[in-house]
Amino acid sequence: MSAKHRERTTLALAIFLFFAWCGFAPAQRETSKTQVVLLGTGTPAPDPEHSGPSTAIVVNGTPYLVDFGTGVVRQAAAARKKGVRGLEPANLRIGFLTHLHSDHTLGFPDLILTPWVVGRKEPLEVYGPPGTSDMAEHILKAYGEDINIRTGVKISTGEMEHSNSAGYKVNVHEILPGVVYKDQNVTVTAFAVHHGKWAHAYGYRFETPDRTIVISGDTSPDAAIVDNCHGCDVLIHEVYTQASFDKVSPQWKQYRLAYHTSSKELAEIASKAKPGLLILYHRANPGCDQARIEECRQVGSEEQMLQEVRQGYSGRVVAGHDLDTY
Ligand SMILES: [Zn+2]
Ligand SMILES: [Zn+2]
Repeated sequence: MSAKHRERTTLALAIFLFFAWCGFAPAQRETSKTQVVLLGTGTPAPDPEHSGPSTAIVVNGTPYLVDFGTGVVRQAAAARKKGVRGLEPANLRIGFLTHLHSDHTLGFPDLILTPWVVGRKEPLEVYGPPGTSDMAEHILKAYGEDINIRTGVKISTGEMEHSNSAGYKVNVHEILPGVVYKDQNVTVTAFAVHHGKWAHAYGYRFETPDRTIVISGDTSPDAAIVDNCHGCDVLIHEVYTQASFDKVSPQWKQYRLAYHTSSKELAEIASKAKPGLLILYHRANPGCDQARIEECRQVGSEEQMLQEVRQGYSGRVVAGHDLDTY
């Protein structure tokens, strides 16, 4: 080999290694990082810009869902289109429920059936409070005819829709507070929170190789959030504005105090919990939603909420929007 040829070979090798590094290193960083994807930041109110409450924690490309609000699977597909590859709908197979209020579970049938129809071969694993098994069982019963047709059961001509016979199944794990799930990516701890008359309502703490994330679920002000976050990287917390509280009826005030957390109360909690980032989600406006009075709705705005939280909290805070990724 001539010196010139050797030089060219070395140069080609260097160029190859440089491009290999460029192409490979960022991809590796992306897949090893924990991503928090807000699939739905809404409430029971049918707001087209805010899907029902649902959050995805994606670790090394594996998604873990918290709550299954309206639109959960379509929002996962939208996030995948935006570049979160782990949220391919057929990959959705592990989920956690904070409690069984309808706004947090309306997407449960969607999560059972849609990923299966597009190719999920494993049963869905769901961790939730007592009552989750009954809910799953009734959903499967309600969709029994669909499942029979798609799998070819009881059809003399045989299966025609090509759906596999395992992907629609649900393994429910009814849980109590404590460590409820652990694998190579994540340790998940459920903790009890106060949510009005619900006997079982949970928040969750996710510990991944690079981050700790706490999700409040629906809760009135609770010291458990402070204890479980305790300097966590991300705290995702529900909230309503004090200004809207002042406008609702005494009955709705009573409801809010027992079931949810005001901006002022959240500012106190966050000041003690000291998260790296506070994300406001499930930004509810109960009482105003029902009254349907514009002035009442306006005082529940995102700007109002951020302003109120910032009055009592000096840390980093954002209003979460659907499909935001942190
Ligand atoms: Zn809710
Ligand atoms: Zn609730």
